[in-house]
Amino acid sequence: MPYDQNNVFARILRGEIPCKKVYEDQHVLAFHDIRPQAPTHILVIPKGPYVSYADFSEQATPEEIVGFTRAVGLIARQAGVEDSGYRLIANHGPHSHQEVPHLHVHILGGRPLGPMLTKVD
Ligand code: AMP
Repeated sequence: MPYDQNNVFARILRGEIPCKKVYEDQHVLAFHDIRPQAPTHILVIPKGPYVSYADFSEQATPEEIVGFTRAVGLIARQAGVEDSGYRLIANHGPHSHQEVPHLHVHILGGRPLGPMLTKVD
């Protein structure tokens, strides 16, 4: 799937639409999810044009991958959910209902999150 330069996270990265920023560095931007599903619901995105985790893990430089991985851990600590616990989710493709075709990791926490998946059948 080619990268869509007009997806909502690309537009946030270009400053065309606002976000509630919680962290930024050379490789990474993190902001609050617009429809939070837990008291802490932060999205962490690489700045590069990667559609999904599959795309990122194949195409990104080692510096981008290290920077992104470290940032996710740092942002979770800074959000204060390290001791209580949190969940990371990265949706990829139709079965996971990925809505935005720019890699993002959800950091969810701040309350007990229940079972990992809702049973659908
Ligand atoms: P996913 O289903 O994993 O692709 O999740 C996309 C997430 O992006 C959803 O949780 C949305 O609520 C969130 N989202 C969509 N537009 C925005 C926006 N403009 N600012 C912040 N979060 C957004």
